[in-house]
Amino acid sequence: MEKEHLNIDLEKERKEILNAFRGLLRTHKRRTKEDTRMIRKAFDVSVEAHKEMRRKSGEPYIYHPIAVARICAEEMGLGTTAIVCALLHDTVEDTHITLDDVEDLFGPKVRLIIDGLTKIPEVFDESASVQAENFRKMVLTISDDIRVVLIKLADRLHNMRTLESMRHDKQIKIASETKFLYAPLAHRLGLYSIKSELEDLAFRYTEPEIYADIKKKLKSTEDVRNRFIRKFTQPIKDALLHEGYVFKIKVRTKSISSIWKKMKTKGIPFEEVYDIFAIRIILDTPVELEKPDAWRVYSIVTDFYQPSPDRLRDWISTPRANGYESLHTTVMSPTGKWVEVQIRSVRMDEIAEKGLAAHYRYKESKTSESKFDRWISEIRDLMENPDSNAMDFINDFKLNLFSDEIYIFTPKGDLRVLPTGATILDFAYDIHTDIGDKCIGAKVNNRLVPLSYQLISGDQVEIITSSKQKPNEEWTRFVVTARAKQKIKSSLNEERKNIAQDGREILERKFKQHNIRFISENITMLEKFYKISTATELYYRIAKGKIDLAKLRELENKNGILQSDKPEVKKPKKTKDVFSQIDGKKDTILIGDDFKDIEYTMASCCDPLPGDKVFGFVTISEGIKIHRYSCPNAEHLMSKMAYRCIKATWKNSDLRENVAKITVHGIDRLGIVNRLTEIISNQHNVNMKSISFETNDGIFEGNMTVLVYDTEHLEQLMRKFEQVEGVQRVVRKSHEEKSF
Ligand code: MN
Repeated sequence: MEKEHLNIDLEKERKEILNAFRGLLRTHKRRTKEDTRMIRKAFDVSVEAHKEMRRKSGEPYIYHPIAVARICAEEMGLGTTAIVCALLHDTVEDTHITLDDVEDLFGPKVRLIIDGLTKIPEVFDESASVQAENFRKMVLTISDDIRVVLIKLADRLHNMRTLESMRHDKQIKIASETKFLYAPLAHRLGLYSIKSELEDLAFRYTEPEIYADIKKKLKSTEDVRNRFIRKFTQPIKDALLHEGYVFKIKVRTKSISSIWKKMKTKGIPFEEVYDIFAIRIILDTPVELEKPDAWRVYSIVTDFYQPSPDRLRDWISTPRANGYESLHTTVMSPTGKWVEVQIRSVRMDEIAEKGLAAHYRYKESKTSESKFDRWISEIRDLMENPDSNAMDFINDFKLNLFSDEIYIFTPKGDLRVLPTGATILDFAYDIHTDIGDKCIGAKVNNRLVPLSYQLISGDQVEIITSSKQKPNEEWTRFVVTARAKQKIKSSLNEERKNIAQDGREILERKFKQHNIRFISENITMLEKFYKISTATELYYRIAKGKIDLAKLRELENKNGILQSDKPEVKKPKKTKDVFSQIDGKKDTILIGDDFKDIEYTMASCCDPLPGDKVFGFVTISEGIKIHRYSCPNAEHLMSKMAYRCIKATWKNSDLRENVAKITVHGIDRLGIVNRLTEIISNQHNVNMKSISFETNDGIFEGNMTVLVYDTEHLEQLMRKFEQVEGVQRVVRKSHEEKSF
């Protein structure tokens, strides 16, 4: 050891350190002379203070503060103060430099940050309460200066990058802590790439075999993947260039730990993880055009590839709490592979990559900074509450950090990750289908709780089963995971089919009594008569005694065949008196005509289309607004302000595209979404502006905004939708809002 040390060429080493420092300076571009002077001073102080120290790897200690400062500048976009503090971050704790020295040399602000950093130990103590106390200190400093936490994260990231030279047991301890405390913290602050890197580095030490295996698989599939990506992006690139966009296309490969997470939660091998990579399209566009451009690009992408609308995520209209903005869609490639495409602006990308600091830089533009402020103030409230002790605090805080995940322990201490809101049943099904099906309750931290009990991070759960137990309808309301839902449903379906079989036999006997033939026409007749959508459902309800078969007599029976009713005569719509008031007026606006002096616009509450029965309403400051007669606001306007309403008719030559909103209700069925979008894309001349789908307990609701020419055009489309299997109702929508 001694000998090696003597052999080090100190002069060469000094040069290398200076080079590393210059590298740091280059990453901080927008600096003044004064900034450079301050950073240089911090560097000199730090070099001098650490001059006798070496890291475990044998290299001079100063490389560490330089690297941490570089992460702050390059990867977080932080400025001079943070760089100065990062260079000094270990001096007070490990060298003769005192906080007073720091204040004398660099001022009170730097002192405050170094003080905050010094209070956070490198590795937390074994006992949980001490750990909580330390973590509390760390977060407390958020309210003083967020840079404390950011520099601490940079420090941790560099330590993780150089963890190799540590002792094995220390590696494991630091890695677990990184996974448990720091990665979620980075996530919460919106530092996505740092979060993924921390997770991957931690994973590499906690699960070395799995890590190596996935890494190898990623490497061996790389060529095929790259070829696929080139082919996939080429038409999009061409189209974007043709449209004159300035853009970059990046490929983002999923982190190793996320791939593993997916394999584990879905129970699938590496080969079946469909979103190993995502395509990211980054547009160079001014803030005010970000949203329309993103949707325009969405439309270009989906011109080439069919999107899966239930995987559409619009975080541009409603950014996530940590400020993340992006438009995500998943589309089908020609080879039948799902590909995630993320569309965002340069600004959004920078916020996503560098998090908070980038946020501050774009302060003037509309960001969800207020949401972040709210989060900070929630934490502050928590800490200022005198009733909460340190352990409560860390529990509350953890809940906050893992806002979308909870960590649950098995009786043997194995960790399971579940989404927030998960219950005993979710946990049981997560372990095994049989355990889920037979679950009657559980012991949580040794206390008996029911099936519906919602789990909290840190709970230790022992499931109690009974061989007599079986799933029932109510269970679906107790679970949040897709896996549990699907398992319960398939159990119930099995059960339902058995019951339906009984119902079928009952109906067969009943038909015999009444001399009705047991044929499909008659069954369909009954479905209509009792307003039930499927035969199985009909049989099931009969078996359950929910259908009054005595009513069968009301149906006419000719030679064993039930007769359908005469077609229903539709009641003519009641014409309101108010309408006639307007019809009596003489003046009429001809919509589509270029009237020189009359300004009119379509009311946004009902989006009238050519062909709709409409009237005009004279507003105070926005000219005449055209409303539909069926507009939710029409009655009010015409009854209360008839004097301001005027007749309006369409001049029919005008073929412009108009906005219409449609809602589709139905039964959540596999493929229904695809059928609907297929119709839109095959229907001549229909353009989709936006689309969103929601399913809830097997019921499905789709909302779309389309561009059509007139009511006839729209009705054609709606009729097509009605024919899709599973669709029950298609309605044209008006807003409820009263803006006129
Ligand atoms: Mn350090």
